[in-house]
Amino acid sequence: MTMTEQRTVAAARNDKSDVEHVDVLIVGAGVSGIGAAHHLQEQFPDRSFVILDAQDNRGGTWWTHRYPGVRSDSDLFTYGYRFKPWRGPSIAAGEEILNYLDEVIDEDDLGRHIRYHQRVTAANWSTEDRRWTVEATRGDNGEQVRYTTNFLWMCQGYYNHAKPYQPRWEGMDRFHGLVVHPQQWPEDLDLAGKRVVVIGSGSTASTLIPAISKEAAHVTMLQRSPSYFLAPPLTHELAVTLRQLDVPEDWTHEILRRAYTAQFNELARMSHEAPDQLHEFLMESMKPLLPEGFDIEQHFTPRYRPWQQRIAIVPEGDLFAALREGKASIVTDTIETFTEKGIRVSSGEELEADVVVSATGFNLSVMGDVAFTVDDDPVDFTERVTWRGVMISGIPNMAYIFGYFRHSWTLRVDLVSDLVGRVFERMQDRGATMVVPTLREEDAGMQLRPWSDPENFNAGYVLRSQHILFKQGDREPWTHMLEHAQEMEILPKADLEDGSLVYT
Ligand SMILES: Cc1cc2nc3c(=O)[nH]c(=O)nc-3n(C[C@H](O)[C@H](O)[C@H](O)COP(=O)(O)OP(=O)(O)OC[C@H]3O[C@@H](n4cnc5c(N)ncnc54)[C@H](O)[C@@H]3O)c2cc1C
Repeated sequence: MTMTEQRTVAAARNDKSDVEHVDVLIVGAGVSGIGAAHHLQEQFPDRSFVILDAQDNRGGTWWTHRYPGVRSDSDLFTYGYRFKPWRGPSIAAGEEILNYLDEVIDEDDLGRHIRYHQRVTAANWSTEDRRWTVEATRGDNGEQVRYTTNFLWMCQGYYNHAKPYQPRWEGMDRFHGLVVHPQQWPEDLDLAGKRVVVIGSGSTASTLIPAISKEAAHVTMLQRSPSYFLAPPLTHELAVTLRQLDVPEDWTHEILRRAYTAQFNELARMSHEAPDQLHEFLMESMKPLLPEGFDIEQHFTPRYRPWQQRIAIVPEGDLFAALREGKASIVTDTIETFTEKGIRVSSGEELEADVVVSATGFNLSVMGDVAFTVDDDPVDFTERVTWRGVMISGIPNMAYIFGYFRHSWTLRVDLVSDLVGRVFERMQDRGATMVVPTLREEDAGMQLRPWSDPENFNAGYVLRSQHILFKQGDREPWTHMLEHAQEMEILPKADLEDGSLVYT
């Protein structure tokens, strides 16, 4: 939406009839929105709330991605919530994660608060009324719906669920086979006996390949450049032991959370302080799993520091098993053109395919592509600064959840929800109806840095979208993307009276 269109929408909001009012409006019914609702309800049982989601079901990512073999690449003890023990193997299938979320929805009776098919398109804050007016479009009947709310909690994730990132390559139109994107996997796609080329080298490609190689004639992973892989067991041996000892599930959950957190903290530390050593460790742990004589240098040696992008997890090394069995192979090259029969790469080799899977990732979306206005002035996010990766400068009564890239996303859902709860309490204590992150005098002239420092994290979908994202500053509380170990200390103690939050 252009700024002029945003102004027009904002101007049309004067009609207040037929508007449902809630204390808190949550956008998104994925792991973040469901987690936020749990914490809100637990801490503030008297506040009314709704959760709006554009899709027709819960789960966000896990509802959108239903390709064969879809699974977590984090352990579920940390990807699960702090408050709900995970009872299965460490790495879980998408469907198991959906079942877990269903249990949370049932236990917390959240179903009655969730409204599906409602895509939020615009949100206007009125300082005079001390509330947001939120516009949504119903996906099932096209109807426009309007809510007002005291507090907007954005749990919309980071990518466009409806429109995956699908690059156009030369010659695609003449290809006689089928091109599919994992985000829009056709339910009835039968790959039995088919030759499949999967473009990509990240988590999605490495999850999909072992699953489809069971039935396909052959699967070729076509990657431009290699990723890092880690092949942990499907279930942590500590979990097996604790369960054999009949230790209560909530203890096992907490112990395993700590074990995995410590392990990932160490990986994060090494990625900063000893990247060469970590590189060596990752390469060495992969070698015994690969076929004899495999060209590791060409196919498995990334060009970036470990953890500048997510490390792809292949439980029990199932991707490597598919390579060893000859069911899958890897080509590291660039696409020159699609042909009638497949893909020709720069070396001149033609990879024949019946189906090409474009595991090319996401289109990043800023705050669910909602057009924000504050007192009818359109918000340009590129001019704004994050407050602790939780709120945005100059935007009143709005928090967002953005999880970790290197640790489980959900660890941050619990931490951010606690902080938002503290902000609510502080507002209540002060009798305030409005809280706005505001740069203080001492922050004047602060150096603004891009949303993600490419030295720290340089995944393609982030770098492609830096220009539309908000910024971070060079000091607290205007930074984000900190490591989990730091945030575990910082966020619970965050000073809410340091002048960076203005309450009125
Ligand atoms: C295949 C895959 C596997 C992953 N595995 C892991 C993993 O193992 N560990 C990990 O830590 N991370 C993983 N991730 C990252 C993952 O996105 C997060 O873990 C997590 O699912 C994000 O949850 P969320 O609720 O914040 O956002 P999402 O899951 O993206 O859900 C957001 C929801 O908000 C809705 N929404 C967005 N905008 C609007 C709007 N304007 N109006 C109404 N509704 C809206 C969407 O429809 C969606 O349902 C994975 C990602 C993918 C794609």
